[in-house]
Amino acid sequence: MTSYKTVNPATGEAGQEFPTLDQAGVESALARAQSGFESWRTTEPDERARILAKTADLYKERADELATSISVEMGKPIKQSHQEVQITTAIFAWYAENGPALLADEVLDVPPAEESLVHKRPVGPLIGVMPWNFPYYQVARFAAPNLMLGNTILLKHAGSCPQSALLIEEIFQQAGLPKDAYINVFADTDQIADMIADPRVHGVSLTGSEKAGASVGATAGKNLKKVVLELGGSDPFIVLDNHNLDATVKAAARGRLSNTGQACNGAKRIIVLADVYDEFVPQLTAAFAATTPGDPLDPETKLGPLSSQTALDSLMEQVANAIDKGATVLTGGNAVDGPGAFVEPTLLTDVTPEMRAYEEELFGPVAVVYKVASAEEAVTLANSSAFGLSGSVWSGDLLSARDVADQLDVGMAFVNEHGTTLPGLPFGGVKRSGFGRELGSWGMDEFVNKKLVRVS
Ligand code: NAP
Repeated sequence: MTSYKTVNPATGEAGQEFPTLDQAGVESALARAQSGFESWRTTEPDERARILAKTADLYKERADELATSISVEMGKPIKQSHQEVQITTAIFAWYAENGPALLADEVLDVPPAEESLVHKRPVGPLIGVMPWNFPYYQVARFAAPNLMLGNTILLKHAGSCPQSALLIEEIFQQAGLPKDAYINVFADTDQIADMIADPRVHGVSLTGSEKAGASVGATAGKNLKKVVLELGGSDPFIVLDNHNLDATVKAAARGRLSNTGQACNGAKRIIVLADVYDEFVPQLTAAFAATTPGDPLDPETKLGPLSSQTALDSLMEQVANAIDKGATVLTGGNAVDGPGAFVEPTLLTDVTPEMRAYEEELFGPVAVVYKVASAEEAVTLANSSAFGLSGSVWSGDLLSARDVADQLDVGMAFVNEHGTTLPGLPFGGVKRSGFGRELGSWGMDEFVNKKLVRVS
């Protein structure tokens, strides 16, 4: 049963609660998205770009309020909340600047016709289903390119961040977006299924768990609607040698612990070559141990609470399962006593395939370290995961590192950086991490009618 309610995960205190839509509310949202589409599709691309640029300006102006809202609703350390507002601003600004050119017609030279053109036209109202872990950034990845295209949006945000969801809608309206071009819907999952099936809806994009993706994907498939799925990950962070070791240790700790470990592309599996293992792992253990959880509203805090008590319970079950079956805890391993969903940063090793931690996504500040004998073994282990979101390779030998990166079955491979996201770079995965791409020109390629017009 979906509920839309703020519960501060640092204190357990309940905040505002919002009712879910009734049937009339669902119908009204669908009708508005449809009529909104009829007019939004006819606006000039430059006008859409102007509104997206204004949206970017407003994210900048209202950064303090926006950052505080997500820190309270999902526990992100405030400094990282500001970073999320900044990348969100950059995404809107990027599509404002580049969107009109990306919408230009493609001219094809295919005789004997006089002219062959491919126009990029919107497809209609879309549904976005978004998670709480990056409440603004995830919505921007989907909304900015699609609003630029002329599609309209019905947005179902996570039940745990309703106030941030309402702020997103308010900012669009303040920027001058017609109110029927982006509609926040406090809908439950059955209502979302009905909305996907409705003929007025032409596609759905979900960022979230495999379970939610499979459910939404099944409904979309049954109703012949296009779907984009941005799902979980268990990204490898492969250390080939001791080049820039201090920086690599810092990057591994940051790559795993930022957003309190609740990032799809977190460095969840640290795979270290035997030659450097004894030098690297103690330093990483120390870096984890030195990162103590604290109040998300304190600017010094680097690690907040998990998003909810439920999230904490399910992570601790995965950790307990590994320990029971023989995993070694290098540091951490416990929830923190007292109020709030706080967990110690945890590093596990000796994790084997019969443990849940081997195959499942660990959505919190818990990493698994593996020792391997060679780069080939690192690739085999990295690719043994059912997920394929991103991965990184760390080395002073760029040729070898690129070779390893090329062999990773992932949507995004990095050398000497991890988890970079920028508005102009594609974002998305393969295997059970989903399909489709967001950001850059690729983000405008998903829900577009590439319409051929040929004149003879
Ligand atoms: P979740 O439980 O799947 O929730 C995500 C969204 O889906 C929420 O809005 C949720 O609504 C909704 N939802 C759940 N079941 C649904 C259904 N059957 N029909 C329609 N909507 C449904 O995921 P989460 O735990 O919040 O987010 C964490 C997951 O997201 C992790 O696996 C993470 O790796 C993944 N993620 C992936 C990316 C990426 O780009 N690949 C980025 C960020 C996160 P309620 O809140 O109301 O349940």
